[in-house]
Amino acid sequence: MPELRYDILSGTCTIIASDRAKRPNDFKAAQKYEGPVPEIDPNCSFCVGNENETPPEVYALRDAGEANQPGWRVRVVPNKFPALRSAETAEIDSGMIDTEAAPEADDTSMYWRMPGIGAHEVVVESVKHNGTLGTYTVEEMAVILETLKQRYRVLSDDKYISYVQIFRNWGPEGGASLLHPHFQIIGLPLMPPEVSREVSHFREYESKTGRCLMCDYIERETEKDERVALKNDEFIVLCPFASRFSFETLIVPRKHCVTFSELDNEKATQLAEVFTSLFRAYENMFSSLSYNIVFHTLPPPKRSRKHPTDHWHIHVYPRLNVEAGLEKGAAVWINPVPPELAALQFGGKG
Ligand SMILES: [Zn+2]
Ligand SMILES: [Zn+2]
Ligand SMILES: [Zn+2]
Repeated sequence: MPELRYDILSGTCTIIASDRAKRPNDFKAAQKYEGPVPEIDPNCSFCVGNENETPPEVYALRDAGEANQPGWRVRVVPNKFPALRSAETAEIDSGMIDTEAAPEADDTSMYWRMPGIGAHEVVVESVKHNGTLGTYTVEEMAVILETLKQRYRVLSDDKYISYVQIFRNWGPEGGASLLHPHFQIIGLPLMPPEVSREVSHFREYESKTGRCLMCDYIERETEKDERVALKNDEFIVLCPFASRFSFETLIVPRKHCVTFSELDNEKATQLAEVFTSLFRAYENMFSSLSYNIVFHTLPPPKRSRKHPTDHWHIHVYPRLNVEAGLEKGAAVWINPVPPELAALQFGGKG
């Protein structure tokens, strides 16, 4: 019997179509073998030796060499084709452009717009053109996470940026246009709707119960132990109750923690552990899986602002099922893999 489930974080609905329950092998497109990827591709702008093909780096962790030369382990560069321009390149500080959202014309409030000011950076996470999250060592992964945190902090401090979105696109269905493994960071001049919706659900829950929605959610999931994919002392990985995507997972700090900026060395190592184990499992289940990784974390609280209600987390959305009419038109998803079954595949109890 299919079942409708409500997702308390996003406010969307999913039809868990257990009647058509699928296993990893049933997703043929994600099992295609594309042939080996070389460790270095001389035609790739992110590969070692081609540093001059990207805009100058804004951050790098190096064992040797000077900026924009080989010798780096992780390298952060502005996107060559940014979705949003930085205030500097747009010459905002000249005072010629009003950065506030404004109606298009005085006589209407129906059309609002604002200049596309923000930031768009690429985190080239490895020197290996064929690197994957499931093949990195815990140490390599921890360095990537530390780098993401550094840039998240810097961009959060930018006065034109209201929200910093960290994400990783992988595979053709995930929207990745370059093969070389990389994360992206976009600094947005406003709070994005998906995050605002989640935050309002946190606030609503807190005003009713006095507690954190995520803390209560992971406590219940830990007790039930039906949808826990894996965990260590600091992090838990769940297959969400109303998973919109087959084999979707949610990575959450087990102790209440508002923002990603609070990640210290010990926690970075533990997060790296769950990341590498989780993606090793994904890579064992699917030889060619497209997905999106999305961090949800409010900016670190500024001096004057009260600590907001939130509990940062990371969504992993495998792109095995397509977003079609029902998803687009009604925000109702159909997922043929019950999360309890997905958790079993990750080694959980299910
Ligand atoms: Zn490359
Ligand atoms: Zn919490
Ligand atoms: Zn979220």
